Amino acid sequence: MRRVYMDANATTPLLPEVFEAMRPYYTERFGNASSVHSFGQQARGAVEQARMAVAAFLHCRPAEIVFTSGGTESDNLALFGATKPGDHLITTQIEHHAVIHAAERLAQCGREVTFLPVNAEGAVDPEDVRQAIQPNTRLISVMMANNETGAMQPVAEIGAIAAEAGVQFHTDAVQAAGKLPLDVENIGCHLLSISGHKIHAPQGIGVLFVRKDTKIEPLFYGGTHERQRRAGTENLAGIVGLGKAAELARKGIEEGVPKNLSALRDRMEREIVERVGDAGAHSQQAARVWNTTNLWFDHLEGEALVISLDLKGLAVSGGSACASGASEPSHVLTAMRVPAARARASLRFSLSKMTTAEDVDFAVEIVPKAVAKLRELSPHYANRSPVASVSS
Ligand code: PLP
Repeated sequence: MRRVYMDANATTPLLPEVFEAMRPYYTERFGNASSVHSFGQQARGAVEQARMAVAAFLHCRPAEIVFTSGGTESDNLALFGATKPGDHLITTQIEHHAVIHAAERLAQCGREVTFLPVNAEGAVDPEDVRQAIQPNTRLISVMMANNETGAMQPVAEIGAIAAEAGVQFHTDAVQAAGKLPLDVENIGCHLLSISGHKIHAPQGIGVLFVRKDTKIEPLFYGGTHERQRRAGTENLAGIVGLGKAAELARKGIEEGVPKNLSALRDRMEREIVERVGDAGAHSQQAARVWNTTNLWFDHLEGEALVISLDLKGLAVSGGSACASGASEPSHVLTAMRVPAARARASLRFSLSKMTTAEDVDFAVEIVPKAVAKLRELSPHYANRSPVASVSS
């Protein structure tokens, strides 16, 4: 059976070049980068080369790169590391749970936390950030691109507001990396998170950019690795893979790969919505990363559609989280004031640079059929009334 993967925001496959770059570090070049002997030196050399590649990708100094175990750790290191009890943290209602749940924990540990709202397109207003700043505000954390809708946030404006107020700025760039150029100077951030497995490197490796002279308390205590910012023997092969993936992502963006792919995303979105009826795309009026579309199909349960599409060979993702056996509408769509029924009927399709025009044709062919089938089975569909539209 043909299988098409359209869930790149969940994870991306390793590129063959990345796998080949990593392979020797699992076998003959297995040294510990802290060892003095030649095996150790070889490993150290590979770590530092990868650090340079990631620094070139983010336009920063190699010494500002801290390797972590992934986006979740990078976000936690930024939030826990840059605040102390009594500080105020500003973040948003649409962050990934790696930020939201960390911020909720910080609120239990003596920090004051503000979760800013977003508009109906899923974007934060920089003026809301400015208004929320207090004398004890220590950190602002706003993501660069949302993982569910692809909506890009005005991070450069927020960076300027943070600089004016003398507050540190963290951005979770996990879903922006590899899709648009990343430049920590243009963003004006002190801290920035990326994750390997969203850019065709392996799972379990990530980076926190920490601007020179930005003080962060480590999460772990142990050796002096990563300039005392992250103790623990380096994930050598993962770091090598991330370095290679960052190098390839930088070249891809320079060559304009995403532009071709954004036309594919737009075609898929348009054709599916036209064919299905009672459907639409969230955040369509917002600036979005090129690979993501979050579509709603009223009068059905999104989870049922995910399963039905998977059985036909298309892998996409539902917008709801399963909490105690009940399907909770996505916190991102809820923050955009999407009615709960529509939020539960929403699916995320996320493309990668491996997605082809034939993959899009496949989705355009099978999604309308699967939606029609589910609606046919639904006793509510025949007597349907229109779902209240999104309030502004
Ligand atoms: N931040 C965002 C925006 C994400 O989309 C994700 C993963 O989906 C993470 C953080 C967490 O990254 P990781 O899976 O590397 O822990």
